Amino acid sequence: MEFLKRLGIKEKNFGASTGTKWLETADQGELKIHSPATGEYIASVYQASEADYEKVVQTAHDAFLKWRMIPAPKRGEIVRQIGNRLREFKQDLGMLVSYEMGKSLQEGLGEVQEMIDICDFAVGQSRQLYGFTMQSERPLHRMYDQYQPLGVVCTISAFNFPVAVWSWNAMLAAVCGDTNIWKPSSKVPLSAIASQNIIQQVLIDNDVPEGVFALIVGRGATIGEQILNDKRIPLISVTGSTRVGRHAGEVIAKRFGKAILELGGNNAVILTPDADLKITIPAVVFGAVGTAGQRCTSTRRLIIHETIYDKVKATLLKAYKSLKIGNPLDQKNHVGPLIDKGAVKEFTTALERVKKEGGKVIYGGEVLEGEEYKSGSYVVPALVEAENHYEIVQEETFAPILYLMKYNGDIHNAIELQNGVVQGLSSSIFTNNLREAEAFLSPEGSDCGIANVNIGTSGAEIGGAFGGEKETGGGRESGSDSWKAYMRRQTNTINYGTKLPFAQGIKFDI
Ligand code: NAD
Repeated sequence: MEFLKRLGIKEKNFGASTGTKWLETADQGELKIHSPATGEYIASVYQASEADYEKVVQTAHDAFLKWRMIPAPKRGEIVRQIGNRLREFKQDLGMLVSYEMGKSLQEGLGEVQEMIDICDFAVGQSRQLYGFTMQSERPLHRMYDQYQPLGVVCTISAFNFPVAVWSWNAMLAAVCGDTNIWKPSSKVPLSAIASQNIIQQVLIDNDVPEGVFALIVGRGATIGEQILNDKRIPLISVTGSTRVGRHAGEVIAKRFGKAILELGGNNAVILTPDADLKITIPAVVFGAVGTAGQRCTSTRRLIIHETIYDKVKATLLKAYKSLKIGNPLDQKNHVGPLIDKGAVKEFTTALERVKKEGGKVIYGGEVLEGEEYKSGSYVVPALVEAENHYEIVQEETFAPILYLMKYNGDIHNAIELQNGVVQGLSSSIFTNNLREAEAFLSPEGSDCGIANVNIGTSGAEIGGAFGGEKETGGGRESGSDSWKAYMRRQTNTINYGTKLPFAQGIKFDI
């Protein structure tokens, strides 16, 4: 395939790079990557060994010592050029993301657009790494805080965003003066290798120290554990399941490292009697079936006022029946495959469990068969009537299952249901009633990191800080002032007088 060639993907690829150099990784076995869209074999990757990791981390560490002294706007210039390279390769990389991960081509292209957008954002940020100036209580003293580069930052990314999550972290970390190691999901390493190939030319053209942008493909249990335990890595950004994130958080905390944890969600939309159903239904359907329900922000629960429940249910059923399921590279299709057969099993198991708990599957749930679906990863998105307290509803099933539930009375009952799960990533309300919207956004409203009004739960813009509360992990990345996580804050007090007054008026005469 031509686009694979243009992205530098060979039949067999090395799994570790320090920026412009690929390490000859070969003794840890090959990862053979098949497309969930077609079942076709794409290419393989030689996984990195612990010795490869050691070279990568040492190179990244050595690079940090130089990179931190380059003025931030000059680091921003490198990121600007990376953004331009991504513009050139948007179509090809978007295709690969879609082909390797199974999301629709539109979403694959959208993911690369996010990479470009965060580059632009980071370039501007490179001139705005501001600290505050405070007033000292002592005469002839000046006090301020400044932000210093942190060190080597590692991004461990999940399969469902094969490239964007890396850029959210790495581009900001780079302008902040940190060097980067990326450990992508072993389910989608080719998109990561392609990204590394794309940026390579910028690194060569600008003589960027080897190790500023490094990549390592390897097993979670070996390479992953090495990263978590490595004191040379002061910050690790982990995007993945709550199970992996909980473990990572504990290991990193034990060595006093910093962690940005971006974990599972269980996102709800509230529909009040004042919702405008014209915009609600497409937002809910896109939220529930987009990326085949494999977004951390996918809509999983729909909390509907009892007075509009039947109408919403009928409209949703009609919309679900019109969904086209098939190859995500074909733009007429709305729903692509799940990542693999394991995910299909989780989907069918969740439906069995919800039925046992008293839920009713009112649409979908089938595993599709036939030539078009030969990868074995296609399912019909399910609509299920359920109750919030069911065990399975409390969990994140990473698949297209939408649980419909009723609320009665006022908005506070709906908010209680919305908040009544252990996760806290994204939430939204559809209403034209100002009081309901403001209650949802008030201190007694949504407890999630993201709370939207008249917009679905998925599809955040890079300009906002992204992340969630409770078992979603509490991390924030991407926009707003998330950059601060990639730097260490330092308070500086300078005495330009001839006396030595102590703070708090303490007397100490010698
Ligand atoms: P996963 O937890 O299986 O894997 C995530 C990453 O962790 C992978 O790179 C994996 O190789 C790595 N890993 C596994 N074991 C490790 C270990 N012992 N040490 C270090 N690294 C290890 O998740 P997944 O199936 O790839 O992704 C789906 C999950 O990610 C869902 O729960 C989804 O909600 C979550 N997610 C969250 C966000 C967010 O921003 N909150 C975004 C995307 C995905």
